[in-house]
Amino acid sequence: MGGTQRTCVQCGAVAEKRRLLRIAGRPGEAWAPDPEGRLPGRGIYLCREGGCIGRFAARIRTRKGGARWKMGDGGMELADRLAAMSSDEA
Ligand SMILES: [Zn+2]
Repeated sequence: MGGTQRTCVQCGAVAEKRRLLRIAGRPGEAWAPDPEGRLPGRGIYLCREGGCIGRFAARIRTRKGGARWKMGDGGMELADRLAAMSSDEA
């Protein structure tokens, strides 16, 4: 049977957890990309393809988006890391 399903927070697509990019962290404190799905904490999931990573990065750069996702002080750094990952897409 399939693995655990998660929903992309950007587009709402449902997929197996391992097919999505996990962002791990603690709301209001620190978040980090977790491509292997091994870091502790809460998880935010995004499609690995299709532009969801880049669009989410743009959202959390805004005051409203950063607050919505409780990015805390590290939100801009996370956005930079996600944008870099997004631009690596084929
Ligand atoms: Zn998506």
